Amino acid sequence: MKAILPLFIFIDACGWEIIKDDRFCNTVAPNRRRLESVFGYSSACVPSILSGRWPDEHRNWCYFVYDPKHSPFKVLTPLQWLPKAITSRRIVRRWLSKLVKVQLKFRGYFDLYNIPFKHISLFDFTEKKSPLRPGGLNRGANISDFLEESGIAHHVSDPSHSETENFDAVLGDVKTGRIDFAFVYWPDLDGLLHREGNQSPEISPKLRGYEERIGRLLDAAYEQYNEVRLYVFSDHGMANCDTLLDLKARIEPLPLQMGKDYAIVYDSTMARFWFFSEDARRVVTETLRTIPEGRIVPDAELERLRCLFADRYFGELIFLMREGVLIVPSHMGERPIRAMHGYHPEEKHSYAALLTNQPEIPAGITAIPNIYKLMVRDALLAREQNRSQGPPEKRAGHRFPATREAPEPALAFSARVTALNFEGEAL
Ligand SMILES: [Zn+2]
Repeated sequence: MKAILPLFIFIDACGWEIIKDDRFCNTVAPNRRRLESVFGYSSACVPSILSGRWPDEHRNWCYFVYDPKHSPFKVLTPLQWLPKAITSRRIVRRWLSKLVKVQLKFRGYFDLYNIPFKHISLFDFTEKKSPLRPGGLNRGANISDFLEESGIAHHVSDPSHSETENFDAVLGDVKTGRIDFAFVYWPDLDGLLHREGNQSPEISPKLRGYEERIGRLLDAAYEQYNEVRLYVFSDHGMANCDTLLDLKARIEPLPLQMGKDYAIVYDSTMARFWFFSEDARRVVTETLRTIPEGRIVPDAELERLRCLFADRYFGELIFLMREGVLIVPSHMGERPIRAMHGYHPEEKHSYAALLTNQPEIPAGITAIPNIYKLMVRDALLAREQNRSQGPPEKRAGHRFPATREAPEPALAFSARVTALNFEGEAL
């Protein structure tokens, strides 16, 4: 019998507004808190959870950027001559995305989405590695790096497998008692909410299904471990899209040429611009100011959101929709979807959630990157206590040692772990 299993379960898009009036997990994880999300999509949120750092540090923010010098997509340019009826079809795009992913050896999630082939050689794709795997971030370490370097036996979901496969895999590892840490990733609720919206009658059965799975995991874990420290959390919520904005129809008629005067990526809730003349910047800025569905995010605000990049790698101007407005068509999709995330983190449906069986959530845990601190703390605690000889002491009300007291100071990560101590807070 081992002492502790830290069990971190990440349910994509299981936002605060989705669960706040639901009994979700209230018997197994009754302590819950609303968490601030990270500005951007899952491409920004997931790396932030996995590293404890913000987009301006790990540099995983939005998928496509203007970078013709490094674009790996030049080979796709001739596809612009095929009829749009073919090249804009999702099934064709998915098939092509798979082919390109293999050819370019991309390791993470990859989709060509709806980027026009005419302009695709202007763009690079920024998530070439899988953020969950060791070395998977554009800059700095993630939780997998930490666990490997710390010698902590662990289970981390494989995002290329289905939810059921990942559930079976973690259940198998828990049953052996082999691991001292588990990180589980379930993405299906996100897909359901995108399709059906945040009021769908299908949400409740989905949550009940998750509860059933979590219950089975806990039952298996308590066969092998005296204590399971359970955390169920999300990266963002989901807002229904009731207003569609054809932003392209406002930008393309301007007396400017894409690729020559400016470049743009139309994400689904924001547009990101690069300018090649002051004139282009002025014309576009003036036009955007006449569109009430969105607003230009000032640099000071981007900086506060930790999404301001000194080299303007992800865009020089960010035009963000207000919650509920979807850019259609966009480079992410030709047709509308029912609901989306990626609005301002202070919009109602952006907030994420954290649910736990731990009696206290430290005051410093207020935003999703902070989840990393809990993972590191509990992984080190589990390593220490699971290795110690003899029966584990009673842990109710146990005060956890500060991370600086963790053994093995020779660890490459020890300096970083010390720096991660909660500000002014006894653990
Ligand atoms: Zn999503």
